[in-house]
Amino acid sequence: MSGTNAGVVVVGGGQAGFSVVQALRGAGYEGPVTVFADEPRLPYQRPPLSKKAHTEPEGPGVDLVPESFYRERDIDLRLGEYVAALDTAACAVTTGSGERVPYEHLVLATGARNRPLPVPGAELAGVHALRSLDDALTIGRALTTARDVVVVGGGFIGLELAQVAQAGGARVTVVELADRLLSRAVSPQLEEHLRERHERDGIRILTGTAIEQIEGKDGQVHQVVTGQGPLPADLVVYGIGATPRDELAREAGLAVDDGVIVDEQLRSVSDPRVFAVGDCARHPHPHADGLIRLESVQNAIDQGALVGRRIAGGAAGPYESLPWFWSDQGPVKLQIAGLRASTDEVRVVPGDSDTPERLAVYAFRDERLVAVETLNWPAEHLAARRLLQQNPPVSPADLAGSTLGALARARRRKEVRA
Ligand SMILES: Cc1cc2nc3c(=O)[nH]c(=O)nc-3n(C[C@H](O)[C@H](O)[C@H](O)COP(=O)(O)OP(=O)(O)OC[C@H]3O[C@@H](n4cnc5c(N)ncnc54)[C@H](O)[C@@H]3O)c2cc1C
Repeated sequence: MSGTNAGVVVVGGGQAGFSVVQALRGAGYEGPVTVFADEPRLPYQRPPLSKKAHTEPEGPGVDLVPESFYRERDIDLRLGEYVAALDTAACAVTTGSGERVPYEHLVLATGARNRPLPVPGAELAGVHALRSLDDALTIGRALTTARDVVVVGGGFIGLELAQVAQAGGARVTVVELADRLLSRAVSPQLEEHLRERHERDGIRILTGTAIEQIEGKDGQVHQVVTGQGPLPADLVVYGIGATPRDELAREAGLAVDDGVIVDEQLRSVSDPRVFAVGDCARHPHPHADGLIRLESVQNAIDQGALVGRRIAGGAAGPYESLPWFWSDQGPVKLQIAGLRASTDEVRVVPGDSDTPERLAVYAFRDERLVAVETLNWPAEHLAARRLLQQNPPVSPADLAGSTLGALARARRRKEVRA
């Protein structure tokens, strides 16, 4: 067993791992803190990677905090070091170089990896997925000369990259297997507006279309053969989903099912000394039917903060933060608050003549507002985040002829008068 001084070991130096150590020290934890981060650079944010073209290695300024943050807080940040195995009986991890490091508490914050593209030709030069800063640089440089870009997958990252490529002057086609874009993530009503907006910008969108193979010339991608015929391509970017990096937990015998299974405190259901946070964790949530795994910055930050506070001994209840998300797709800001699963009523409010680019989609379950999707309407998204966490819940009648912004203001006035 570990000694009491073994401290906290965090595996993964991404958004969630960073949030854990920030909260640990913020809450006064004084024991040893070690972060193993297999990427050889300071922890950084991923969202900017798909929202513009990155061409300079030092340029993006995406680091979460400078190196001094870790030094001043006595956080042992082990960059470029990979954790290869867990020994939960002995409370120790083993690194790729064979070093054994004991822990009192272990936090898995290993994130997710891109699903590979399962078609012949996916290995050709000019075919890329985007997850790391290195990927972003490779794609950004390719975009400076690419004329025909095929984006495989009409998800958030694919659509963001499609807009980046289109703004850079390339001809862009998005190929999506499902019969609509973002089919698991947004309502059909919002998808219709979003698709129309991207098509108006000149992006060609083929839904219900499979990629059959990618063909090259001299090892470089040349065209993509789809169910609707061949598409010329000198750059192919694919984003067809991600899978959690849960293999360490699985090999150590912890419960895993498309993510490390944790309880409402984000502890592994198999071992109370092990927590999992961020993209790699499958957790209960009061707004979900059953366990859920979320891939979002909000979830990574809030889960990391909760676990950091809990280990430090601060008060921390169950994990119940309201899920929210954003995606910037060229001129479109898409925002989602809440979880849309199993909704039984949907109301769509378009912008008026002064704000034609706006849209809000309100989703209700059992007469209760549970999720709000907006396009180019940040104030309504913020109001949704406030009201979705308030009692009484918002009913369809509350919203009749109104917006959440107006409703939130009215409720505040009532509180002030009371
Ligand atoms: C291109 C892109 C754009 C995105 N845009 C948005 C957005 O607009 N809005 C939004 O809300 N979310 C967005 N996301 C999702 C968001 O970035 C993730 O949900 C978030 O980064 C998850 O944080 P994490 O710490 O769980 O995982 P990550 O940030 O992926 O960090 C995990 C880290 O752990 C490392 N690691 C894994 N295994 C080991 C090991 N055994 N040893 C050592 N290190 C290990 C990994 O290399 C990685 O660096 C985007 C993601 C991508 C890829």
